[in-house]
Amino acid sequence: MKPAALEYLACPDCGGDLELAVTVAEDAEVITGSLACPPCARQWPIHGGVPRFAGDIAGIEARTASAFGYEWTRYDELAARYRQQFLDWIRPLQPADFAGRVVLEGGCGKGRHTALVAEYGARAVLAIDLSDAVDAAFANTRAFGTVHVIQADLTRPPVKPLADLAFSIGVLHHLPEPQTGFVALLSRVRPAGRIAIWVYGREGNGWIVHVVTPIREHLTSRLPHRVLDWLAGALTLPLFAATRLLYAPTRGHRVAGLLPYAPYLSYIADFPFREQRSIVFDHLVAPVAHYLPRTEVAAWFERAGLADVTVAPHNANSWRACGRVPERANA
Ligand SMILES: [Zn+2]
Repeated sequence: MKPAALEYLACPDCGGDLELAVTVAEDAEVITGSLACPPCARQWPIHGGVPRFAGDIAGIEARTASAFGYEWTRYDELAARYRQQFLDWIRPLQPADFAGRVVLEGGCGKGRHTALVAEYGARAVLAIDLSDAVDAAFANTRAFGTVHVIQADLTRPPVKPLADLAFSIGVLHHLPEPQTGFVALLSRVRPAGRIAIWVYGREGNGWIVHVVTPIREHLTSRLPHRVLDWLAGALTLPLFAATRLLYAPTRGHRVAGLLPYAPYLSYIADFPFREQRSIVFDHLVAPVAHYLPRTEVAAWFERAGLADVTVAPHNANSWRACGRVPERANA
């Protein structure tokens, strides 16, 4: 944790300033120490360079954090292809929209998007994740002086309402109540700031909802992660063969329309085996996954009174949505 993070961090209970105590520092990073809110008599540890606000979590949140903590410390590398993927998920935002901004990321995983936003020139990136993936994110973004990785529940972000832009890619649909996460992130965006999200769609995912979801909920999300990882490897063999032999060669041709899930599977057809395996693992590991109809996503933005709202399909199976907080909405 860089001491500069104190400008943005806040007590998750009262919203007040935090006091930093340093035990071990390395270069510009506080590796070990603590943060405290004296009025609330609360204290949170910093270890491994990351402030830890998560505390003791239990139940479905703990299972979800364990699942994605395993995934992103196992598949912890950053790949060049993430660049275009991020732009596809975040549209209509462009790299220039991040330059000079204070950015809040809800659910940073291994920091794949955090690093890009830092590269785009964000003034500060506050990257929150509940899981141990923060250790991978910290390692992957340590070179950027503007990145602050924080282990915390995104429904109670320990940050001040100073964000010019909040975004969340592939995370809100794994919360017990996705809209709660959306509202929590939005509460930290300043007037005239923006929020952008990408979530699974109900439309285009009938097969997943009816066939994969029961298997995931009752079986695969309950398997030991190492066993599921092996299973994901086995299931990826036919997927990898199909994407390479059917979806990649037919991309852009009319015949592709005859193949199931063509927009999505064509999109990932060039991904290496290891990446496809991590995607299969990802789809089978989550205890909770909501597949959201367009009307529901649009309703979040409408209820929040956001302006300039766009809700657009991505790969015919998900929604990317963006909106702007009106001036003085939080005043
Ligand atoms: Zn407090």
